[in-house]
Amino acid sequence: MSTTPPRASHASLVDFGRRHVTKGIGRQVEAVIEKGEGSYLTLGDGRKMLDFTCGIAVTNLGHCHPKVSAAAAEQCLKLVHGQCSIGFHEPYLQLIERLLPMMPHPSLDSFYFISSGSEAVEAAIKIARGVTGKQNIITMQGAYHGRTYGAMAVTKSKTGYSESFHPLMPGVFTAPFPFWHHFSLPPNTPTSELTSLCLNQLELLLQQQTAPKDTAAIIIEPVIGEGGYVPAPPEFLQGLREICDRENILLIIDEVQSGFLRTGKNFAVEYSGVKPDIMLVAKGLANGFPLSGVITRSELSDKLKPGSMGGTYAGNAVACAAAVATADAFKEENILENVNARSKELFAHLEPLRSTPAVLDIRGQGLMVAVEFASPTGTSPHDPLRNPNVPAKLSTRIAKRCQEKGMFILTTSAYEVVRFIPALNITAEDLKKGCDIFVESVEEIV
Ligand code: PLP
Repeated sequence: MSTTPPRASHASLVDFGRRHVTKGIGRQVEAVIEKGEGSYLTLGDGRKMLDFTCGIAVTNLGHCHPKVSAAAAEQCLKLVHGQCSIGFHEPYLQLIERLLPMMPHPSLDSFYFISSGSEAVEAAIKIARGVTGKQNIITMQGAYHGRTYGAMAVTKSKTGYSESFHPLMPGVFTAPFPFWHHFSLPPNTPTSELTSLCLNQLELLLQQQTAPKDTAAIIIEPVIGEGGYVPAPPEFLQGLREICDRENILLIIDEVQSGFLRTGKNFAVEYSGVKPDIMLVAKGLANGFPLSGVITRSELSDKLKPGSMGGTYAGNAVACAAAVATADAFKEENILENVNARSKELFAHLEPLRSTPAVLDIRGQGLMVAVEFASPTGTSPHDPLRNPNVPAKLSTRIAKRCQEKGMFILTTSAYEVVRFIPALNITAEDLKKGCDIFVESVEEIV
């Protein structure tokens, strides 16, 4: 007779999680995930789900990529924790070797690895203030940079999440990002018009509120993420670079979500040819192992006081080994080619939706793509706290219907946006399958 206790049902595990997982996260979760393989997740009740989320743009090579998992397993038997103030460990150095040729500019040669995107943002703010001796940070309308204190202060898309935690870090000013919503203009407004509006307003902001002598850095996502999946026009980034050069301000490019081939280039900033002073990476860096990086010029990082940066788990050896294997797989498996081929197919599959009156816009780069819907009257386009008294957003209902039909897909917290972030090595067949589920769900809900 078996002595194994009966397994709890999927529904009771979901209920247990809802009761005991801290309420600040996962309130709407309806699944327990048992395992992941490539573009699929298997749930506790046996359902196999197509995953168009990659755990929010993390598992770019799909779940449990065999080479990445094997590299991590091997490293676990060699050295799990190496502390960089005691000794460098090999995977840390190997990772730098792999990343150096991928950098958007050769001047980016100083690497500091930590664990999360928010930590990278905190570190960038410290570096900017530390090396310039200036205080202010300019962030963008609609920006998302994380949930720790400094990161929350420069986040402008999920302000509902930070309201009860004030006072936030002082010295933060918000500049407009060239997104038509921010000016109540129609989606077809030329980007050149939006760009000059934004650059002019930034010049005014610098003159009136934050004299350049007090501004340490401008931080920007080259593709606004949570704020609606909007690529920054190249001319806007180029304009920012010019202003930063003129005023001696550092330009921090946050590639946490857009980095590592996601947009069809190694890094999204490459579309503009702009050189970052500091570049932030995380998510796709280690394909699911917690690792982030702050990359800057030695000339800047050499000015930091020894011991002023760092942390116990900074640059964990297993996560670095996974990141080395991830970088190798990007090359060996021609991932960039797949991204660009699948991106064309994705836009082609979505194109027929343009004639649906409820669809406002289809946009994006590579496999970081959004479909935006018009906000139906009576719902709040911004219900970031998912207040139960506010009717669910249209985009949330579409994502839920996709889930019922066997696919996880995410919305953004701002506006009525459904975002497509499939694995970068997704097959043409799985991409088509996901698009069919999405189109069917839109037809049923809209
Ligand atoms: N920056 C960007 C652009 C992000 O998209 C995110 C997370 O989604 C962060 C920073 C914060 O990263 P983490 O959630 O790892 O702290």
